[in-house]
Amino acid sequence: AKKLGKNNYQIFSDSIDISSYKQLALENDMRKALEQNQFELYYQPQVNMEGRIHSAEALVRWNHPDWGTVSPGEFIPLAEENHLIHDLTSWVIEEVCSQLKKWKTMEKPVKPIAINVSPLCLMRNGFIEKIKQILADYEISAHLIQLEITENTLLKDNEKIQSNLKMLKQLGLAIAIDDFGTGYSSLKYIHDFQVDILKLDKLFLKELAHDNEKDKAIVSSVIHLAKGLNIKIIAEGVERYEQYQFLKQKDCDLIQGFLFSKPVPLETWEEMMETGYLK
Ligand code: C2E
Ligand code: CA
Ligand code: CA
Ligand code: CA
Repeated sequence: AKKLGKNNYQIFSDSIDISSYKQLALENDMRKALEQNQFELYYQPQVNMEGRIHSAEALVRWNHPDWGTVSPGEFIPLAEENHLIHDLTSWVIEEVCSQLKKWKTMEKPVKPIAINVSPLCLMRNGFIEKIKQILADYEISAHLIQLEITENTLLKDNEKIQSNLKMLKQLGLAIAIDDFGTGYSSLKYIHDFQVDILKLDKLFLKELAHDNEKDKAIVSSVIHLAKGLNIKIIAEGVERYEQYQFLKQKDCDLIQGFLFSKPVPLETWEEMMETGYLK
């Protein structure tokens, strides 16, 4: 009876662990969610120093029937574990291209879109062919697509990744290094790979608002070096006016952050592109 009691307690304590219960549920529901169109893309504008819209990053959301809106931070790691990341990424690329095609057909001003790509996708056979096929199907110029990879993707000693990145560049897609400064790559490495864009992680910007001299020095020298290497620089997570002012003074190229706009649903992004105004 004692043992049973203990087991019962064990079961009870597991069942009230909502976060692991949620993870399990999400993992189980993911395949169905793709089939039932529960994923949705939000768009976060990337603006120049005058506040004009230059491009946007596509960020996936999951409208789950029971859990409501689930953020990618919760389900992307699960998708990477259960290999659904490949179908999900194909869905994102196809959704972006189909919107680009729609805007082009309607003769709307079309802005480049950035798409996040997991290193697992870059390692996979057929990834390049898939992208080529989607671009061809929707008649989209590769220059309208930027692929965001984290800097540790470059460090992976993986021939497939390196040759795939080369091919993507040859196709004309731009490569952006996401969360730059949180990993271990150097600017030399980034230069060797002929990366097009660096996205400075929001971590560095945090302290700028508090007049942290070291962070100011890091940010301004990264901007300076990137410029010297002809790499475009985007500052991420700009939330405060003082951060923007500093970045502008240092001649940063683009910024992305709540100060200008949160990620917005498709309709809002379309209005922004149409009017040229952020909402
Ligand atoms: P990320 O690529 O670094 O995307 C930027 C994240 O920062 C987004 O969170 C965005 O909403 C948030 N953000 C933007 N501006 C600000 C700001 O001013 N302050 C703060 N505090 N946050 C800001 P989100 O949309 O929750 O995405 C989280 C992560 O999930 C992304 O980080 C990316 O790594 C991943 N992710 C999103 N969509 C996809 C996708 O389609 N595929 C893949 N593989 N990963 C994705
Ligand atoms: Ca798991
Ligand atoms: Ca990103
Ligand atoms: Ca980022």
